[in-house]
Amino acid sequence: MSSKVIVYNAEYEKESLKDKIKRALEYFDLPNFKGKRVFIKPNLLMASSPDKAITTHPTVIEAIIEILKEKEAREIFIGDTPGNTSTNLDHLYRVTGMKEVAERQKVNLVNLYTYGVVNIKSEVAGNIPLTKFIKEVDYIINVPKLKTHTFMLMTCTIKNTFGLVPGMNKSRMHAIAINPENFAKILVEIFSEVNPVINIVDAIVGMEGEGPSAGTPRKFGKIITGKDPVAVDVVSSLLLGYKPEEIYTNLIAYKKGLGEINIEKIEVIGEEKAKIYNHDVVKVKNFYSLSKNVPAFMGSITSFLYNKFIRQYPVIEDEKCIKCRICENSCPNKAITYDPNKMIIDYKKCISCFCCHELCPQKAIRLEKSLLARRLFR
Ligand code: SF4
Ligand code: SF4
Repeated sequence: MSSKVIVYNAEYEKESLKDKIKRALEYFDLPNFKGKRVFIKPNLLMASSPDKAITTHPTVIEAIIEILKEKEAREIFIGDTPGNTSTNLDHLYRVTGMKEVAERQKVNLVNLYTYGVVNIKSEVAGNIPLTKFIKEVDYIINVPKLKTHTFMLMTCTIKNTFGLVPGMNKSRMHAIAINPENFAKILVEIFSEVNPVINIVDAIVGMEGEGPSAGTPRKFGKIITGKDPVAVDVVSSLLLGYKPEEIYTNLIAYKKGLGEINIEKIEVIGEEKAKIYNHDVVKVKNFYSLSKNVPAFMGSITSFLYNKFIRQYPVIEDEKCIKCRICENSCPNKAITYDPNKMIIDYKKCISCFCCHELCPQKAIRLEKSLLARRLFR
């Protein structure tokens, strides 16, 4: 596998973006798309407009569609499933700009819930159900959005295929893998099965701070292309201000042989390597990342204390909450209940997966650290 990553400066202007993606694709030995059915997988976490920088921008998707048409692909599909299972798909596709693109380009928006599932074996979860649609196409093109992520630190190439786990099964994965390392193993298992033919990252405007939805849009001004998912995510981690080895999906995918983690061994084309290191990005205030600063001799003590006294947990800000109950529906451990006056979190049940924080459309959930966590990890 090649460890080339193409990084071009880009804006959301379709013609120049298309030209850059086309040039980037020339560096790779891609299959012939002529006569093939091709599935484009963006990040459509929630029904949110493109300017919020939560979802892959429709201009990137439209540029890829036009390239595929020039390559004479037979059928082109766009599809994803949102984090909140009760979201109406038509609404999701309309608000994210996908519907407009699909109608203009006359390509298909797929309802991934209607295809049934195919189960893959998982070391952590026993099995993982993926939408069967992935077996009905010839090639998959992965088009993630570069964002910070409160649970995994970063969401990009490898995390993006989690959207192919339909419905409540996403919550089941969270309930089984309650720490980020195990969750990353599941993400890598899914990515390996999906095996996109190419990854094209929308890092033009991504997200910093409390991503993947409650953060702030951040202009990185890049479109990143590569076949090696680890190498693409290594470059993305550096753009997001993280060391590549801080990101569990990078480490686990590298150990599984999915790609290259050493930036020295990755050929970055289109941009000087020195310019992909960002140092001023606002990172997530994630307890798991902070805990890595604990001296080694405290490791076993902290592993006991983790669940007991050192916690990061969600707090609902009642004045912002509109009682849409999305958090209640998406909590994998049924820790949130509805009361006509306020939403209530049962902290004995909470496993700190932060799905509620990720999916709250009002940014009404903040993450707090327990007293001891605040003392240890300022
Ligand atoms: S906290 Fe957020 S997701 Fe939960 S009910 Fe309130 S507004 Fe909806
Ligand atoms: S309350 Fe929020 S953080 Fe806790 S288990 Fe439920 S979704 Fe996860």
